[in-house]
Amino acid sequence: MNTPSAQPTQPRSDDERTLLVKVFGKDRPGITTGLFATLGDFGVEVIDFEQVVTRGRITLCALVTPPAGGPGAEGALRATVHQWTEDHKLQAEIISGTGDNRPRAEGRSHVTVLGNPLTATSVSALSARITELGGNIDRVFRLAKYPVTAVELAVSGVAPERLRGALAMEAAAQRVDVAVVAAGLERRAKRLVVMDVDSTLIQDEVIELFAAHAGCEAEVAEVTAAAMRGELDFAESLRARVALLAGLDAGVVEKVHTEVRLTPGARTLIRTLQRLGYQVGIVSGGFTQVTDHLVELLGLDYAAANTLEVVDGRFTGKVTGEIVDRAGKARWLTRFAEQAKVPLAQTVAIGDGANDLDMLNAAGIGVAFNAKPVVREAADTALNVPFLDTVLYLLGITREEVETADELHGTPAE
Ligand SMILES: [Mg+2]
Repeated sequence: MNTPSAQPTQPRSDDERTLLVKVFGKDRPGITTGLFATLGDFGVEVIDFEQVVTRGRITLCALVTPPAGGPGAEGALRATVHQWTEDHKLQAEIISGTGDNRPRAEGRSHVTVLGNPLTATSVSALSARITELGGNIDRVFRLAKYPVTAVELAVSGVAPERLRGALAMEAAAQRVDVAVVAAGLERRAKRLVVMDVDSTLIQDEVIELFAAHAGCEAEVAEVTAAAMRGELDFAESLRARVALLAGLDAGVVEKVHTEVRLTPGARTLIRTLQRLGYQVGIVSGGFTQVTDHLVELLGLDYAAANTLEVVDGRFTGKVTGEIVDRAGKARWLTRFAEQAKVPLAQTVAIGDGANDLDMLNAAGIGVAFNAKPVVREAADTALNVPFLDTVLYLLGITREEVETADELHGTPAE
């Protein structure tokens, strides 16, 4: 047996001879073991190997040094490998060449593609854009097959910002979601996620739930829609809507708690992030009367929202304290990041409305979630599928990892 060398392996020079051994066929246990045992008899060194199994078919590629002993030994290796693959009903190709894999070009990104369904035409269109920019797809990995098909492409050769712009346009044309995140350690170091509440963490607009109890739902909904489209100053519109609640019995808060509907995937997202050691916060232009409840329900670390003033058990039609508006949301993201001791570059913000834009732009990754067009166009990344846990795929976390963790810890699926 060889003693491991204390010398670090030197980069291989481009003119050194190497052999690429490719094996393809029906997968069964023992193929990897068998191929490497066969190669091992010739004393070759493994430079790289990759293996993928797609619907029961294996493709195994090994890049190795040629055997010592010149052309005779190499001929024997070829004959032995071909015999071994024939015995196992596999096909083999052995290609002589020189050097290692080409180093990956500068400008590296992780591109997550989500489709429901993901069509061949979309994949072709997106890869054409990557090629046009001089990029190369180095690897592809499936992240999820349910409830959407999600794949991650490792792309090199083009700056992430350029790639993001080009793919965002193509994604809109193809009706798929594409997120481009720069590769590197920082991607793995995201540690704080801050979410908007109304129409992001929950499916409702909280003020509309209160308004239904006050009998002014239509008036409030009209102002909310205009504010979210960015047509109205948020603080003004908030005051106008809250004024409509004046005189309402504050006892409705408990009823509203039962009416709030979490977005599908919300619990899975939060539970998985917490298992990974992330801190999770919410920031809302809605009300602490509801966010306090969500903090308790979901075990959140941070929350900021407006507070409806209550006097003698009734809403006064005013809010108290500092208003959480568009600038306020970004400010709270910064404060939460300071408290969590996490640089802003390592934060993720998620929101759907115009008042989320500053926060989305301030965060390391800003995700527009089923957002209004003005937000979708201005954000880094847009998700248009109605499942909040798809945010995990942008962080490179697979559906399988999420489900395995749930099985291990006995957490029910949603
Ligand atoms: Mg919202």
